[in-house]
Amino acid sequence: MGQKIFYAPVNHPHLGDELNLLFKHAIDAYCVAPHVWNVGGNDDVCAYLMDTSGGLVLLDTGYRASVYLMVDHIWRLGFDPADIHKVLLSHWHWDHANGASYIQGLSDCEIWLSQQDEVLHQKWRDDTSELPMVPYDVANFYDFQKPIEVGSMSIHVRLTPGRTPGAVAFFFDDTDESTGKTYCCAMHRGLEIPIMGPENLQKWDITEVIVRQFIRDCDELEQLDIDIAFPSHLNMGNVLANMPANKSDYSTWVAPYTWKHIVESRKRLVQTYYPKSFFEGKGKQADR
Ligand SMILES: [Zn+2]
Repeated sequence: MGQKIFYAPVNHPHLGDELNLLFKHAIDAYCVAPHVWNVGGNDDVCAYLMDTSGGLVLLDTGYRASVYLMVDHIWRLGFDPADIHKVLLSHWHWDHANGASYIQGLSDCEIWLSQQDEVLHQKWRDDTSELPMVPYDVANFYDFQKPIEVGSMSIHVRLTPGRTPGAVAFFFDDTDESTGKTYCCAMHRGLEIPIMGPENLQKWDITEVIVRQFIRDCDELEQLDIDIAFPSHLNMGNVLANMPANKSDYSTWVAPYTWKHIVESRKRLVQTYYPKSFFEGKGKQADR
């Protein structure tokens, strides 16, 4: 062991527990890769700003409550929110998508989502039982065969059902011009997995087929060599405990063991929700 960055248990309370107490849960922006910053501004949900040299891209947008901190962080880093060209949403949930329409109001950017999750976005848009949804219009659906090219970045999007039927993972290379080193970066957004327990499936439109698919995807994904894994929630990467004093030093997050650990540990947890037979024999055949 001795590995500092791993899937850590959720600390409570965090912003999601106390949306009216943002000041208690505010954090600074910090650099996670040569051209990527977490500008989410809170101790819960991340929003990653990518400086592509051909405009800015934002991966997720956080809660409505934390939008003003996100915008403030973008300015403080020397960027103009009006230069955001695309917001790429990892999945349709409020905690990741509720800032999207505010960013669009500032920048007129495109909002992207998977087609699978757009169905759920529409289904829940007027339902306030969990959280009110800030209306947003999706202009583009991901094409999983074709990377999204913006400036120097080529962002590969892979469908990784789990948290939602249309949750995605993002993969891209980022080069540090000062050292010439290139880092393979990834974000897997289907990992908030208690939702995959049998008692939760129906409410969240997760099927048993998706649960088995999640396990197969994890088997494949954990084979990938990823230098920097970006968590979608801070706890997924034990972030706060490892925060460097110098927020523009990303070297802390270059930790190739992290991705494998996070993916493997989530896979093992989902496996505990079901009997072994669920993943073998009959169940497996029914997916074909
Ligand atoms: Zn979330």
